[in-house]
Amino acid sequence: MIPLSQPVVGEREEQLVLDTLRSGRLSLGPMLTRFEGMFAERLGVPRASAVSSGTAGLHLALRAAGVQEGDEVITTPFSFVASANSILYERARPVFVDIDERTLNLDADATAAAVTDRTAGLMPVHIFGYPADLPAFEEIAARQGLFIVEDACEALGAVHADGTAVGARGHLAVFAFYPNKQMTTGEGGMVVCPTSDAKEQIDSERNQGRAPDMSWLDHDRLGFNYRLSDVACALGVAQLERLEELLSGRQRVAGLYGEALADIDGVELPYPDTGGDRRSWFVYVVKLPADVDRDGAIEALRARGVDSKPYLPAIHLMSFYRERFGHREGEFPVCEDVARRSLALPFFPQLTEGQVAEVAEALTAVLAESRLSSMR
Ligand SMILES: *Cc1c(COP(=O)(O)O)cnc(C)c1O
Repeated sequence: MIPLSQPVVGEREEQLVLDTLRSGRLSLGPMLTRFEGMFAERLGVPRASAVSSGTAGLHLALRAAGVQEGDEVITTPFSFVASANSILYERARPVFVDIDERTLNLDADATAAAVTDRTAGLMPVHIFGYPADLPAFEEIAARQGLFIVEDACEALGAVHADGTAVGARGHLAVFAFYPNKQMTTGEGGMVVCPTSDAKEQIDSERNQGRAPDMSWLDHDRLGFNYRLSDVACALGVAQLERLEELLSGRQRVAGLYGEALADIDGVELPYPDTGGDRRSWFVYVVKLPADVDRDGAIEALRARGVDSKPYLPAIHLMSFYRERFGHREGEFPVCEDVARRSLALPFFPQLTEGQVAEVAEALTAVLAESRLSSMR
């Protein structure tokens, strides 16, 4: 079976993890500071805070942005569910608007039209590593006095047309290190903090609200346990050291797929870099023709030894969101069409040219079978 994703960890990761285990400093130690500093430097930002997951990072970023109960936060229904969930943790309301059919990111015009006097902020997601239209969102936010929290969990290494790295435009921005991401710490996340006040608040809230000097007795605010262990940070340091290699490996595989799938009838390939924006490859998601049974294709691919997955289901149509907010089909037609037709193929840096060819052959055969059966 060719798996969907596979982390790349080697001797350097083993060495740094072992050093950390032997150091006896397993949490809030020197590896945490080293990882945060290295990450901030790589991105070109003044400071960042490591946390236990991307989801935890989004939660703390929203709190640092000042979100309040009842606030509306405009975001995309075409994302991993964590982006919308994090808004609900603070009893704010995720207001979905439809996506741009090419980039699959939050549509800027629809966003501007959805602003009300209860809107407090915007949460664009750089979906599949393609830069969201931040210049447009910045204009809306400035005009309406809104905050921006960027979900950059899928976009480490992506670059905007004006040359700024995704996550480095001066907003709270969140990255994630689950094993399928561009780099991993097993579980983990990082919040880019534009101000030292934001970093102070996030560092305190990830640690039960304790003061920066770690004094035991006075917790002057509510906090959480969203700490990232030094063992995980050691893994992060080793991954950052070879980030360029990891990113170029993904780029190579995307190139191979582009060639191998170019001639398959009706299969739509990922949107190419346009106007100077540069994607950081996170997943390889194709759109199948509308008349193909996508979920049947997933089964048939599995039978041929290829793992694949619907990517992504629309958040507003998940049972929890339907029941809680009364969402229904037809609200966000672009998102729903993409969610019905999109398919993630195996994608990770070590994928070989031979494996990419196998996936392409399997997909070609499965689509041919599906056409035959729909003609019957
Ligand atoms: C991975 C991801 C997250 C965070 O995931 P965690 O598993 O909590 O690290 C958030 N948003 C998006 C879009 C993601 O892909």
